Amino acid sequence: MLISIVLFVPLAIILAPPSRFVGRISAITNQLKPFGGKAPSSLRPTYTSFRPLTTAAMAPQAFKTPPQAPPTFTGTPQSIIDDTKRLIDQSRELQDKIVAEVKPENAAFQDVLSPMAHDENTMALETHIIGFYQSVSTNQDLRNSSTEAEKLLDDFSIESSMRDEVFKLVDAALQKAEQGKTKLDPESQRLLEKEHKSYIRNGLGIPAGPKRDRFKEIKKRLSQLSIVFQKNLNEENGGLWFTGEELDGVPEDVVSGLEKGDGEDAGKLKLSFKYPDLFPTMKYAKNAETRRKVFVENENKLNQNVPIFKESIVLRDEAARLLGYPNHAAFKIEDKMAKTPKTVDDFLGDLRKRLTEGGAKERKALTSLKEQDLKDRGLEKELDGNYFLWDNRYYDTLMLTKDYSLDQQKIAEYFPLQTSIRGMLEIFETLFGLTFVEITGSDRTSISPSGKAEDITWHPDVQVFSVWDSEDQGSQFVGYLYLDLHPREGKYGHAANFNLQPGFIDEKGNRHYPCTALVCNFSKPTPKKPSLLKHDEVVTLFHELGHGIHDLVSKTIYSHFHGTNTVRDFVEAPSQMLENWCWTPSQLKALSHHYSHLSREYEVAWREQAKEGEEKPDVKLPDEMIENLIRTKHVNDALFNLRQLHFGIFDMTVHEPKSHQEVEDMKVSELYNQLRKDIVQIDGPEVLGGGMDWGMSCSLHFAPWSL
Ligand SMILES: [Zn+2]
Repeated sequence: MLISIVLFVPLAIILAPPSRFVGRISAITNQLKPFGGKAPSSLRPTYTSFRPLTTAAMAPQAFKTPPQAPPTFTGTPQSIIDDTKRLIDQSRELQDKIVAEVKPENAAFQDVLSPMAHDENTMALETHIIGFYQSVSTNQDLRNSSTEAEKLLDDFSIESSMRDEVFKLVDAALQKAEQGKTKLDPESQRLLEKEHKSYIRNGLGIPAGPKRDRFKEIKKRLSQLSIVFQKNLNEENGGLWFTGEELDGVPEDVVSGLEKGDGEDAGKLKLSFKYPDLFPTMKYAKNAETRRKVFVENENKLNQNVPIFKESIVLRDEAARLLGYPNHAAFKIEDKMAKTPKTVDDFLGDLRKRLTEGGAKERKALTSLKEQDLKDRGLEKELDGNYFLWDNRYYDTLMLTKDYSLDQQKIAEYFPLQTSIRGMLEIFETLFGLTFVEITGSDRTSISPSGKAEDITWHPDVQVFSVWDSEDQGSQFVGYLYLDLHPREGKYGHAANFNLQPGFIDEKGNRHYPCTALVCNFSKPTPKKPSLLKHDEVVTLFHELGHGIHDLVSKTIYSHFHGTNTVRDFVEAPSQMLENWCWTPSQLKALSHHYSHLSREYEVAWREQAKEGEEKPDVKLPDEMIENLIRTKHVNDALFNLRQLHFGIFDMTVHEPKSHQEVEDMKVSELYNQLRKDIVQIDGPEVLGGGMDWGMSCSLHFAPWSL
């Protein structure tokens, strides 16, 4: 399913997965409101059994001085553009030189691919950080420059991928290797084959002439369409006006943050379609009509993207056929693990078969809950036997609270951010034989290449760790890990892992160690509470940390294959497997640490808000709460996965037409809604007489670059 639900992200970024608790993203972005004051430094917990992470001062001698200095983050709006142009010029000159000096009859891996691969390695040391500023810098100009620099790099990448004279040399080098004239190590051989293939996939396999020109034209048009599509998405600014009464049930912290109307909207509140407004409303708004409006209008909010989407799938189909593929799906899946559309279709079909019955049962139980709820509220007149798309999150949430006594807020009290991180790193230390050493204070100064402690991070909030193989694994340096955990203005809004520098072996045979960063948006600590993680946030953090560890422990010759730079249908596997620790009772117990045990101040603050006579909680999460939580893991799981499956099946359907005419004739909105109805089997507005040609939230998911 991964292929179908991945949004467009630069390769270095790995997003959080879709969550069973769909509120996750909302829970995180909810915290985006800037924190009013600076947390006093006395908040550093020093109470009871809390053991801080290993710091350089506490670390054994072998772990004190990393053999590679960390990168610095001193870019300015001008310097990063200059650096980008310098890197592009160098790279272009190198390609020119190869073309000038190497003749196809002599072309071999060592003279063609090897220098370009080393160039790619050294370029990545700077370009990832240049592109990173747009997601983390507090300086708007620097963020803009970073975006601008990325565009320059993209353009250069397109230019390079279409250089016919370089392709001829790569082609000759491949033939030489295939004839056994050169013997390559497996990774070099793979690089040669992948690069060769990528030139062909970029149109150089088509003989020069009208067909190749048409292919180039399509690529250019697709690139323009994707920019407009994304721009519409970024600038979407709609919403709906509601009275306070219509929003009954929506949490107060959401309602109090809504824009207040004047004029004809006086007395009303504007609910936007952004996650922090949207999800709590779908989960908690008692008024079904409110939920219906929000659901339908949210699906309709970007209808201008539907024709863009349609044009894109038509062009993709044409391009794939020009390259000799039966359709776009075959083209895209060929170099993934799945290899063929059939593998994907069989997989999705099998899942569908297995999930359908469970989905029907869940829908039945939720429908009964709806009936009971309406009766309890004296709303029998609304009883019509239907269970709508806009009912689903509401009754799912109600079921979790009612039948499973799940109190997410209470559970969060046991997961203060810093103790959770410590616990997670300990799990990784045990699993993978690693040691994490936090670099703080004067240790930052001593390892900083500029001698300035502040230069080795991009913001004072950022934590830095040197990562090592543990002593029994040989105490080798592994790389640097950065944690940037709290929201601030202009910062990337979700949770993601960014590679800042890849690992590789340089021309002299020396290893360059990787640097990787987690960028998240957990609430900041306040004088009364540390940052507390809801369980789904614990999962998110663990998931992202899994990507970070994957990025750190990877060892490749070429940065091209480093870490999470792997095939798209594998990249989520390590993190998803690791998530299971967050559903294991013993690990949940070990990770937990009630915040009232962290410091005297927190204990006092906890008492202030506790009910009279309430006993101070144990340090560890009680077994009963763990059981309740784990019981919810699969509640309404089939319905959740059927919804995911709908995205996947739709994605495959639009990209696998039997003929070009078929995609030309495709009515994408109707197809989208009809497939959802067939797969998820939950009623939409068509039951109320609306037909199938309505909104298409795929405008969010199926950017022209998807699949
Ligand atoms: Zn992920």
